Amino acid sequence: MNALRILVVEDEVRLLESIRQGLSEEGFAVEAAESAEAAEKIIAAGALDLIVLDLQLPGKSGIELLREMRAAKNHTPVLILTARGSLEDRVAGLDSGGDDYLTKPFAFAELVARVKALGRRRSQTASPILKVGDLEFDTIKRRVRIGEHVVALSPKEKMLLELLMRNAGQVVTRDMIAETVWDSDYKALTNLIEVFVNRLRQKIDPRSDRSLIVTVRGVGYTIRAE
Ligand code: CA
Repeated sequence: MNALRILVVEDEVRLLESIRQGLSEEGFAVEAAESAEAAEKIIAAGALDLIVLDLQLPGKSGIELLREMRAAKNHTPVLILTARGSLEDRVAGLDSGGDDYLTKPFAFAELVARVKALGRRRSQTASPILKVGDLEFDTIKRRVRIGEHVVALSPKEKMLLELLMRNAGQVVTRDMIAETVWDSDYKALTNLIEVFVNRLRQKIDPRSDRSLIVTVRGVGYTIRAE
C-alpha cells in the first residue's frame, strides 16, 4: 500500500514541524507549507491525498485557499485546524468545503485518527455524497436534497445532519451534537438540542408518520441507515 501524501499548512513553525515529524513517523509522506501561497505551489503539483489546513494564516487565509481549491474542482479531502472556541471559523471552514476539523490544541493521536479516517473515506468512496434513503447530502457543495427537492438548511443544521448521516445507524449522543455544532457542553443546551433536532426533522422529514431521525431516550439521536 502506498503511503498517503499529506500536505500540512500551518504558520506556527514549531507546530508545523511537530506535525510533519509525527505524521512521517506514522508512515505518511508529508509536505509542509507555512502559508497558503506556499501551499498553492504544492497543491498545483497535484497527487495529494489529504491536506491538513490551519485557517488563520498570514496573507491569504485557509478559508480563501479552501474556497479557491473547491471552485477549481479540487476535491482533495481537507482536515481543518481551528483555534479553540472559534465556532465561526469552523462553520465557515465546513461550509467552504472542509471535510473535518480539529480544534487546537489537540492530542496527536486524535490528529492521526482523523487523518486515517479521511484517508479511508477517500479510498473507499470517491463520492462526497452521503445518502440515507432519498435524502442526499453533497458535502462539497454543502447541499441537501430529498429527491429533486433542495432543502434549505442553516449551516448549523447542516453540521448536525452531516454528523447524523456520517454515523447512520449508530447513536449520536447529545454530547457529540453539542461539541460538534455548538462547541459546548450539552447540559447547558439540552432543550435547545431538542428544539433544533425537531426543526431539522420538520425540514427533512415532511412525512411525520415515519421519522428518519429517531430519538434514543436519554442518550441522543440516530438516523435510520436504510
Ligand atoms: Ca495560524
